[in-house]
Amino acid sequence: MSTKYIFVTGGVTSSLGKGILIASLAKLLQARGYSVTIQKLDPYINVDPGTLNPYEHGECYVTNDGAETDLDLGHYERFLNKPTSQANNVTTGRVYQSVINKERHGDYLGKTVQIIPHITDEIKRNIKLLGRKGKYDFVLTEIGGTVGDIESLPYIEAVRQLKWELGKSAMVIHLTLVPFLSASGELKTKPTQHSVKALLENGVQPDVLVLRTEHELGDSIRKKVALFCNVDENSVVQSIDVPTIYEVPLKMKAEKLDLTVLNKFGMSTGKEPELEAWKSFLKKHKNPKSEVNIALVGKYVELPDAYKSISESFVHAGAVNECKVNLQYVHSEEIKSGNVDTILKDFDGVLVAPGFGHRGINGKIETARYARENNIPFLGICLGMQIAVIEFARNVLKLEEADSTEMNEVTKYPVIDLMEEQKGITNMGGTMRLGAFACNIKKGSKLYEAYKKTQITERHRHRYEFNDKYKKQFEDKGMKAVGVNPDTNLVEAIEIEGHKWFVGVQYHPEYNSTVLKPSPLFSGFIKACLTK
Ligand code: GLN
Repeated sequence: MSTKYIFVTGGVTSSLGKGILIASLAKLLQARGYSVTIQKLDPYINVDPGTLNPYEHGECYVTNDGAETDLDLGHYERFLNKPTSQANNVTTGRVYQSVINKERHGDYLGKTVQIIPHITDEIKRNIKLLGRKGKYDFVLTEIGGTVGDIESLPYIEAVRQLKWELGKSAMVIHLTLVPFLSASGELKTKPTQHSVKALLENGVQPDVLVLRTEHELGDSIRKKVALFCNVDENSVVQSIDVPTIYEVPLKMKAEKLDLTVLNKFGMSTGKEPELEAWKSFLKKHKNPKSEVNIALVGKYVELPDAYKSISESFVHAGAVNECKVNLQYVHSEEIKSGNVDTILKDFDGVLVAPGFGHRGINGKIETARYARENNIPFLGICLGMQIAVIEFARNVLKLEEADSTEMNEVTKYPVIDLMEEQKGITNMGGTMRLGAFACNIKKGSKLYEAYKKTQITERHRHRYEFNDKYKKQFEDKGMKAVGVNPDTNLVEAIEIEGHKWFVGVQYHPEYNSTVLKPSPLFSGFIKACLTK
């Protein structure tokens, strides 16, 4: 069977949830026994989001192969329980970089290099790359941005060409919004009509329309949209607001989106979707038997998307423990030694978030001290682990002003220091220690209790590390290195002996947490928060 290509475009506004829609459709196709992969094309000129401030673009997600990618790839992995890679995220910057490199190499043989065909060809190459060797039955590609944006044009043109070339093996699903005007009590389809017109102006006729709405769409609305937008009535699909993103696949199943797609491709429907484990997760998620309050201490708290994978990991870990996790974002800049107990006293556990740079550091250090001294479950991730190390050095080892050289280059006690391989690096893009690495776990540790294994693989994104020179001093006073990289000896995880649950990890467990395979570390953390 030849690979089928499904493109998802968006209209009317951004943030309609194209990522969740495409992941839900892929989930249903996967549950029917098909092999699927999802790709995101981002129209910005950054080569990847690694250099973007989280305020601009939310979290930077990291794949096993060390690609710094859009946070939608996190949704793809959480829904499909399958790893993605660099090939699953392409930006305009990456496309141009590759074309310009080819031009410099002389590959275009004297031709004028242009958006059409060279940029569009490069976009098409990146899409078809995933379908190569028939590895997947379906390649689903999300086109970032909104139809009508100048920067999306080359992508829409590439989709038009691919639809033309691939014929019945390609399809376009367009996601739009049907707003409800409360003054007149009406749902409005005009924005959808305009948005489909914009697509048509670019030569693309959508095959399926998914209408995001706050209220049920009646038959008359579906009929009207079908007639005005040249699509079959059963290809107008409603996507109504739901309390959790994990319900969207079931909603799309009820709307028969998967069947509509398979019918259009003339394909067999496969088996009935196997969604038992998914439903059992949802059941636990919706019927918690207990509750915990967790503080996420970070500096990007105004924008919850900055910690997307962490908050989703808590949803997964909550379900494992049949527990509702009330995650509250606490601004690290607001925490001082004088108010830390007032701010944190009602929480069952605290997480100190990953991050870069000096802003909000002292609040994070106070948080780690408070959790350590008061026996409150603590999880430090990446910078969060480094903070726990700095706090322990200052207040337990009495190494006054101990620091990370990221914050103070000339500190007398560099307990966290730049990794050897990082010295001399001046380019910021894609140069951190990135991707999956192995970690050996010490038996008897909280980490071992969580993973129940002596070797794990987790993903990384950092430049600084625990300074081995101080290891003995820390271990003598009770902060133990319980996770170590088998090849480099780099400290991947620390714990405080005798504490209820105090774990810091240099890696990012949140990138590996999926609905069907929740992060054991997050589950262990919640379990510890539950034991009074
Ligand atoms: N800034 C720290 C480092 O580069 C931590 C990075 C992170 O939290 N992802 O090592």
